[in-house]
Amino acid sequence: MKAKTVWLSAAVWFIAAGVTGCGVDRGPEPGGAADVAVKAVANETQNSFTTAPSASTGTQAAQGGATGAPSAVQSQPYPVVNTHVSPKVYGMRKFPYPYEAMLAISSDADSETLRKFNLIHEFINTTEMTPLGKGLGLDFADSFFMYNGDNLPGYVDIHHEPMSDELSWFKGVSNQPYAAAILNHYIHVGWIDTMHTFGDFSQRNQNETLFSRKLAIQAIDTLKADGDFLTVWTDHGNKSNVDNFGDYGKTPFYDYQQGANPWSKYYHTDLTIPYGIRFVWPDGASDQFGMRSMIYPLKLPDGREVWGFWRYTSEGFNAKGDPEWNWTPFGLDEQLSPAHLEELERDHDYAIVAQHLCGTTYPGVLPQPAVEALRRLAQQYHEGKILVTRTSRLLNYNVVQQYVSYRVTYEGGKAYIHIMAILDPVFGAYVPTVDDVRGLTFYTSNPAKTVIEIRNTPIPADLIQENRSDGVAPSIGIKWWPVDTTNYAETAPDIY
Ligand SMILES: [Zn+2]
Repeated sequence: MKAKTVWLSAAVWFIAAGVTGCGVDRGPEPGGAADVAVKAVANETQNSFTTAPSASTGTQAAQGGATGAPSAVQSQPYPVVNTHVSPKVYGMRKFPYPYEAMLAISSDADSETLRKFNLIHEFINTTEMTPLGKGLGLDFADSFFMYNGDNLPGYVDIHHEPMSDELSWFKGVSNQPYAAAILNHYIHVGWIDTMHTFGDFSQRNQNETLFSRKLAIQAIDTLKADGDFLTVWTDHGNKSNVDNFGDYGKTPFYDYQQGANPWSKYYHTDLTIPYGIRFVWPDGASDQFGMRSMIYPLKLPDGREVWGFWRYTSEGFNAKGDPEWNWTPFGLDEQLSPAHLEELERDHDYAIVAQHLCGTTYPGVLPQPAVEALRRLAQQYHEGKILVTRTSRLLNYNVVQQYVSYRVTYEGGKAYIHIMAILDPVFGAYVPTVDDVRGLTFYTSNPAKTVIEIRNTPIPADLIQENRSDGVAPSIGIKWWPVDTTNYAETAPDIY
C-alpha cells in the first residue's frame, strides 16, 4: 500500500524531473520525431505509470475525486494519455512546426551592383510586383564587400560597367565611403548578414594583392562604429585573396590563405573573430544538398576555434575530380530541383545553397529557369514544408537545436520545459536569450498545459506557438522570426 502512495504522489503532486535534452549524441533522425523515443524512455513520470499499472485501483479510488483521474486508466493494460493528468513532454521536434526542413541561400557578392542587388531582393524578399514577377516573400540575406581591389578583365554589369563599379563599402581600397550608407542600411534591415571576406582582392597576377591588415582594422572599426555585427564569413576568390583563412593547411593549394596565420602580415583573425564572426565557410566544394547538421568545429592556425559550415556548391565531380559547380543563376534550376527539395523534406535536413545571384551580366539578373526554381522553393515554404531563412539564422538555429540542454519538471498539472543552456562546444556554454532560441519546438501530449521557460522565466506568451499533432504528437514552440517583406531597396545617384 505504501508503494502505491509513493507512485501517486510522484505522478500527481510531485515535480517529477524527467527530460534532459542535448542533441549531441543523436542518432539518425527518421522524422520530425527526432528524439521522441529516447525522451519518452527518459521520462520518469511515464515510467512510474508503467511500473505500477495494477497499483492504481485502491489509491486512485481513494483520491479519485481530488485528481479527477478517470477509471479508464485503471483498466488499461498500458497507460493512456488523457487530459486529466499532467502532460507529457516527449522531446524536441527538429524544426519549427509545421516545417520538415530548413534552407538558406548563401549568395556571394561577386559582381554585385546595386542595380542587381535591388532586383534580386525586391523579387525574393518582398511580395510586390517586380520585373521578375510577383515577389516571393522569403527571408533571404546577402553578402557584401568592404573593399574592391579587383583588376580582373570583364564587366561587372550590363552596359560594360567596369569592375571598379562593383558594390563595396569603401571606394577601392581607400578610406573613402562608396556604397557605405546603403550597405549599412541593408545590414540593419536584414538584407545582408554575411561578410564575403573583407573585399574582392582578385588580381590577374595571383601573386599580388591589395589586401593589408590595415584594411581589416579599418573595416572592423567602421562596422563596429555603425553597429553592424555580422556573424557569418564566406571565403572568396582567387589566390590574391590572402585574407581568406578557413582552409589553410588543408592542402598546399590553400597556402595563400594567410588570414589566421599569426606570423603573416595579412593576419587578422585576432580581430575578426573577437569582433563576432562565429561561422566560416572555408572555400570547400560539396555536392551534398541536405545534411543532418551544417556545422563542424574548425580550428584555425592561430589556435582559435570557430564553427565551419558546409554549402552545397556543385552537383558531383567530373572525371578529373573537379567539382561540377552549379552556383550561378544558370545552375539554380539544378540546385533547387524538385528531387533535391523532396529529399530535403523527407530526410528532415538542413541545406545551405551557395550562389552568386548577382554574379552574371544577364540583363534581367535571373534567367527564367532560375526564377521558376525560386518559385518552386517559395511554394515549399508557403506550404509549410521548407523553412527558408537567412544563413545566419539557420546557423544559429543549428547550434541551438543541436546543443540545447533542457529539463522538464511537472507541477500542478502542468509540464515546465526549462531551457538551461546552449552547450556550445566551440564558443562555450551560455544561457540563451529568447531570440537565441526562436523556433525551438517540443512535442508534448498537451500544449495548453505545457510551459516553456529559460531557466525559470517563462517565454512571453505572445512568442509561444501551440501546434496540433503533425502525426507524431502535438507540440509547443517558441515562434520563429516573423517574415519581413518590406521593400528596403534604396538607390543613390553615384552608385550603379
Ligand atoms: Zn566570391
